[in-house]
Amino acid sequence: MKTIAFIGLGNMGGPMAANLLKAGFSVNVFDLVPEAIAKLVEQGATAFDSATDAAKSVDAVVTMLPAGKHVKSLYLGFVDQDGLLDVVNADTVLIDSSTIDAESAKLVANQAAEKGIEFIDAPVSGGTAGAAAGTLTFICGASDAAFDKAKPVLEAMGANIFHAGSAGAGQVAKICNNMLLSVLMVGTSEALQLGKDHGLDPKVLSEIMKVSSGGNWTLEKYNPCPDVMESVPSSNDYQGGFMVDLMVKDLGLSQEAALLTNSSTPMGALARSLYVNHARQGHGRRDFSSIFEQFSKK
Ligand code: NAD
Repeated sequence: MKTIAFIGLGNMGGPMAANLLKAGFSVNVFDLVPEAIAKLVEQGATAFDSATDAAKSVDAVVTMLPAGKHVKSLYLGFVDQDGLLDVVNADTVLIDSSTIDAESAKLVANQAAEKGIEFIDAPVSGGTAGAAAGTLTFICGASDAAFDKAKPVLEAMGANIFHAGSAGAGQVAKICNNMLLSVLMVGTSEALQLGKDHGLDPKVLSEIMKVSSGGNWTLEKYNPCPDVMESVPSSNDYQGGFMVDLMVKDLGLSQEAALLTNSSTPMGALARSLYVNHARQGHGRRDFSSIFEQFSKK
């Protein structure tokens, strides 16, 4: 495994591709945004004018795109435009780390399988900090053979690599996780503001809750209250990180998944409504911890 094509160099993809370079892989890159490509070229990557050119004759392709429609069109192409499945070698392993609906992931995996190509869904958890540090959790849906083939590539970008099941299983596990994360973020925000309204210092309250029964990942790693924690989006006007629009997308995916199986997800449904309102108020491109302002702003 030597050469990897990386397509989608945004908040997550950029640092993930940089870690592949650090691990010694040759990395071909493409993004729709030229500045995103330039940043990776400075670090040693090779730029291409299209995703299909970048992906020819490589050992693995990694994609990190916004949503299912981007993944489907990139891999499957259009009537008059080749997709990645039309150009890659049969022994190239295709790894999609975007968070998308499981049905789209299964569709691409099946069409790849018809051409004898292995495609795995490998969405991630750990945020932009995890992407930069190379400590992401990868949650994979794949055959055993495809998982084994992709593992060395994933290990260069992550600390925990899980095989959740067959095609689509990675995406199901990921949206369950993000639905829970949104509920924790909303709950943590309202608890912190309640304490502040009663005169508590949010730093002290956070320390107390972190080691008490309300302790959770948002308090440990991603406090939503400004100036409680350094180097998190809440202390940088909620810039960078994980956009509200992407959380709205993931919560939509979890609700669609719940409809398919008639599952009851009332907390996820409420969190989706809160995040949709937040996005409609113009916060779509800010970090998802900015939901705190729904409770703090008068
Ligand atoms: P982003 O918007 O910062 O990056 C997406 C990149 O894809 C952009 O640079 C865009 O130009 C590029 N792109 C879109 N269509 C393309 C195409 N056809 N060809 C080439 N490039 C294309 O988003 P992000 O925050 O990096 O998130 C990417 C995915 O990872 C999403 O599915 C998101 O849900 C998931 N995710 C994000 C985080 C996070 O903390 N940001 C955490 C876990 C998972």
